Amino acid sequence: MKITKVEPLHLRLPDVREIADGTQDVLLVRVHTDAGIEGIGEVTSQSYVCKAIIEAPRSAKRRHGLDEICRGLDPLDIEGCWRTMYDQTIRYGRRGAAIHAISGVDLALWDIKGKALGKPVYELLGGRKHEKIRAYASVLFGDTPEVTGRLAEEFVANDLTAVKFGWGPFGKTWDTDRKHLEAARRALGDEKELMVDVGHVWDADTAIERCQRMEPFRPFWVEEPLTPDDIRGYGRLCDAANLKIAAGEADVTTIDFERLMDEGGLHVIQPDVAFAGGLSVCWKVSQMARERGRLCVPHCFSTGVNQAASIHWMTAYEDAKFVEYCLAEGPLIRDLIGGVPSLEAGYATASDRPGFGIEINDEVLERFIVR
Ligand SMILES: [Mg+2]
Repeated sequence: MKITKVEPLHLRLPDVREIADGTQDVLLVRVHTDAGIEGIGEVTSQSYVCKAIIEAPRSAKRRHGLDEICRGLDPLDIEGCWRTMYDQTIRYGRRGAAIHAISGVDLALWDIKGKALGKPVYELLGGRKHEKIRAYASVLFGDTPEVTGRLAEEFVANDLTAVKFGWGPFGKTWDTDRKHLEAARRALGDEKELMVDVGHVWDADTAIERCQRMEPFRPFWVEEPLTPDDIRGYGRLCDAANLKIAAGEADVTTIDFERLMDEGGLHVIQPDVAFAGGLSVCWKVSQMARERGRLCVPHCFSTGVNQAASIHWMTAYEDAKFVEYCLAEGPLIRDLIGGVPSLEAGYATASDRPGFGIEINDEVLERFIVR
């Protein structure tokens, strides 16, 4: 089998606002083959930039576009395709947008391989290790502690057993932070897990002090308190903190994650399959976490492609603890992709259909595609 085309599909809502919501502006990747099998992937990054990285024509050695690089390759040799994409973009790639774009192609190749062999992707990763995966929902902190409390109550009413609040008013003063944490913990009760996403607004000294103060509210983890490049700061914080520190949604390739764990000392890493280099990278990174006794929990806040791929990954991963589950509203998260596992009492079950078991809704595609 040979790849005949890598096709980027850019979709965009008419009104894209500057909020932390990856479901407003979306880049899908469809990989075509000479056997008539198509695979679907996704890139969660700057869609215009990554679309250009796919479409860029032949250039000098090691600076081609991904469509040019992939045509004629065997899609079933996913590792070989990944290595070729990495090597042939290395003059402008290695990190950043080129790796994000490679993630979309890599995901589509896993989908193709599953369809070609008639197996769900979790089977390609060694088989089902979990019947279902515990989901955690993530949402921004409310503007006031009352709104945060109400949001937490809604999640409890919807059977979620773990909720992450982040960004918004959090991180500025301890007095405000304490009120939001109190409201969230009160609504969640003692049994449910609370995670906190700080949104890289502190330095290491502030984070050490605030983590100590947060201990009575028992957050399961404290996410991205520092800027992603402050590896030394993470090293100090992770040594000092009695809470688990999480990061990694901004990182790509096994090289970044090795550094995060070995130099930064992170307790929880959060690779994103549509960003970090695809399922190929994320699977390796989760094995590295396992060897080091760290938790690996997928970051996932875009379309059903990312969601389905993350659930397949965790279904095959022995040490799976949670999958992030995006409950944002809007047509690109709710209607664009069919076949995405829904939540049953706060858990998601991977589909047994070949590949990721998903399909694109052509009507939604036509309505929002950017040409
Ligand atoms: Mg985050």
